[in-house]
Amino acid sequence: MNFQPTFAYAQDLDKADMLRPYRQRFFFPKHNGKNVLYFTGNSLGLQPHGVEKALRKELKNWRDYGVEGHFKGDMPWMHYHKFLQGQSARLVGALESEVVVANTLTTNLHLLMASFYRPTKQRFKIIMEAGAFPSDMYAMETQARWHGFDPDQAVIEVAPRPGEETLRTEDILATIAQHGDTVATVMFSGVNYYTGQFFDLPKITEAAHAVGAFAGFDLAHAAGNLPLHLHDWGVDFACWCSYKYLNSGPGGPSGLFVHEKHGNDPNFPRFAGWWGYDESTRFLMRKGFKPMLGAAGWQLSNAQILSMAAHKVSLDMFDEVGMELLREKSLRLTAYLEYLIERLNTNHRPPTTDNQPPTTVNRFNIITPKNPEERGAQLSILTGAEGKKLFDYLTEHGVIADWREPNVIRVAPVPMYNNFKDCWRLADLLGRFKTDE
Ligand SMILES: *Cc1c(COP(=O)(O)O)cnc(C)c1O
Repeated sequence: MNFQPTFAYAQDLDKADMLRPYRQRFFFPKHNGKNVLYFTGNSLGLQPHGVEKALRKELKNWRDYGVEGHFKGDMPWMHYHKFLQGQSARLVGALESEVVVANTLTTNLHLLMASFYRPTKQRFKIIMEAGAFPSDMYAMETQARWHGFDPDQAVIEVAPRPGEETLRTEDILATIAQHGDTVATVMFSGVNYYTGQFFDLPKITEAAHAVGAFAGFDLAHAAGNLPLHLHDWGVDFACWCSYKYLNSGPGGPSGLFVHEKHGNDPNFPRFAGWWGYDESTRFLMRKGFKPMLGAAGWQLSNAQILSMAAHKVSLDMFDEVGMELLREKSLRLTAYLEYLIERLNTNHRPPTTDNQPPTTVNRFNIITPKNPEERGAQLSILTGAEGKKLFDYLTEHGVIADWREPNVIRVAPVPMYNNFKDCWRLADLLGRFKTDE
């Protein structure tokens, strides 16, 4: 893309942005009375205006109906999960019956592993990425232990090659093939939280299936960030949270996906609860678990209406825009920010007072893959020794970004509410930072 570095150009891009009105539907935190430059939608998305109204509605239903709220109102609580199923399915590229919103993310990861990690003496390995989000590391470690395996033997991590920051797909596929029929489950994130690398889900799934293993994904940083096609890719299971790109509020509920080839088998092993029981006879309260077909059969508890009401506001917005349009803007937005940051690194730095040639040392080393197909809306910037100072400087100037030890600043230009001027202003601040500041 042929970008220009001027503010006027960023303004033009914003004017041409079809998604511009969506920015107005979010609350931005303030810094000195002005909107902050919010670049942490990958960690906690902003609050959509509609959330408060949706919560008030359910509070009113509770106040007015008490327990009868399960059957009254336009969205009776009894069936609440169904009101989120269509949008969730479209979000991740699934059939409606293959998804359900329930529980929280790490809980679902364990529930799904209960179904999709049933190791035997011969086939007991889990293959995952090195440097996964800690909850996923702990989940896989304790899953292996729970089944009586030593995690050092059972959990195989695929790491970047020496001197590289991200994984090569060929290395992931080769590791799966190499461990062959000792692999029970391949469990990767969709987008790595640290580097922002988007993994090749279809290829990983295919490689897992080729050795007779299940393939599952934690889509915490992928859902609402990139178009997904879980059904067509033949993914066995997946889960995600709703509070990162999906803007549904702190601790919001999780979505889970079970491919219909498993979900429609009532005998597929699982940990069950009453809300996963066949709804037509659920209230006969009989002994003997009879699941609902599809992902709904993995529900445990009755729906958390308040948090799901907030989630629905956001899901409706994603449904209205569609992941294709969001992705289109996201590609441009992230590429623009990348362009501006890379420009700072070389001969475009502010002229030095002593007429020294400009430095060519990379101050802002982006470790996120350069190939747009291998990333979403995040850039992870490896900084130098001055990294923490730089981060503090950004914070003082009204930027909310994210600091990861030892020295990475993560920024996520989120297409739903960030604009090109945000990117310009961030890069402008970066360019003005002086090491001795
Ligand atoms: C954010 C994130 C989580 C958080 O899990 P919760 O159970 O919602 O606290 C888990 N896994 C990954 C990959 C994440 O990015």
